[in-house]
Amino acid sequence: MNAEIIAVGTELLLGQIANTNGQYLSKQLMGHGVNIYKHTVVGDNLPRIRQAIRMAANDNDIVILTGGLGPTEDDVTRNALAEEYGLNLVYDQQALDKVEAFFQSRNQPVNDANRRQALHTEGAHVFQNSAGLACGMAYKHTDTWFFLLPGPPHELKTMVEEEVSPFLDAMNESRDLLLSRVLKFYGIGESALEARVHDLITQQTNPTIAPLAGQDEVTLRLTVKTTDPTEAKKKLDELEGAVCERCGSFLYGYNEDTLFSRALDHLRSKGWTLAVAESLSGGLFGASLTDVPGASDVYAGGAVTYSNEAKEKQLHVTKATLEQHGAVSEACAEEMAAGVRSEYGTDIGVSLTGVAGPGTQEGHPPGTVYIGVAYPDKTHVYKRRLRGDRASIRRRAVKEACAAMLD
Ligand code: ATP
Ligand code: MG
Repeated sequence: MNAEIIAVGTELLLGQIANTNGQYLSKQLMGHGVNIYKHTVVGDNLPRIRQAIRMAANDNDIVILTGGLGPTEDDVTRNALAEEYGLNLVYDQQALDKVEAFFQSRNQPVNDANRRQALHTEGAHVFQNSAGLACGMAYKHTDTWFFLLPGPPHELKTMVEEEVSPFLDAMNESRDLLLSRVLKFYGIGESALEARVHDLITQQTNPTIAPLAGQDEVTLRLTVKTTDPTEAKKKLDELEGAVCERCGSFLYGYNEDTLFSRALDHLRSKGWTLAVAESLSGGLFGASLTDVPGASDVYAGGAVTYSNEAKEKQLHVTKATLEQHGAVSEACAEEMAAGVRSEYGTDIGVSLTGVAGPGTQEGHPPGTVYIGVAYPDKTHVYKRRLRGDRASIRRRAVKEACAAMLD
């Protein structure tokens, strides 16, 4: 099944918001064996929405519209579909009851504009909206299914999970499923990775293999088309095995994993706790670790010691070290890591000190970074020369610290 996603909203055209609904829907639909052929964005304008519907219907089995189902004048998506095909709009009783109850509970009068949110084209399958008031719908016209879904992202997501996914599954029974597995690599560039799996890419049929470069990282998406989920898993396992023979040492995780979540998982699996001492990263490391839900069972906290004085006071880095070697040194990274480990009473302590740039520091060029990892019985220090501007160096430094923990 081929699909086009039409995002409706003038604010999207003006660049005021990004089309995250389009991205979300693509991801979701792929998992239902739907091939996304096109994304379109159209303003809140009835004739132009009609035109977009007409063009999409020509080429697609499914056309998904998101946005423009609300109560305001500019919300005209359902009218555009109705007018395009000469359909009547009728109320869904359950959705209408919800709209009326909502306003009654607030002692406000319900007007027709509010009631419009319960309208759908006659003969449609209605999707209830448990996160808002506007109902969605699926309507089949000749060979094309139209899905009308709300614009607010949390309403869209709720409706897709609760109502649209089961509907697509039912449409899909006996059809192929598209299942994907994303492999995530760190420490290897896109072209080097592609060169290693070149033979697999040229041989690919089913599953397919697609490289994608991310920020400092590369991913390979393996996708299999099948009617049998068990066979899908087997095929993905086989291809992953072949990939790992070629570049497995750079593989750090799957799908939604990040270097930070993997580093925390790794420590958790050992029953270890972590404290961090940051200089050039200024708190970015702690912030990135605590972005991961559930970080608190591993991550105890950290010290942002930007000045030499702070390093001495909070982490007991010695004056002698700072005078002889400077803050950008192996010795300083070692003492910072050991210092934060003992101050916080954790199993391991990780430190970051270096030069984010743009200028040099203590005679070291930007990108010179030392990472200390203090274990109960030893401390390792890694020296890195990172490339990029100030923001990239800081970002890469904290990723390198994760890689050092996974080492
Ligand atoms: P409402 O009842 O809020 O009017 P609606 O279904 O009419 O909902 P819109 O009016 O088009 O939807 O959009 C409501 C809000 O949802 C927008 O202001 C915007 O913040 C968000 N939104 C709409 N479309 C998108 C999109 N494609 N991607 C991300 N956010 C979106
Ligand atoms: Mg609206």
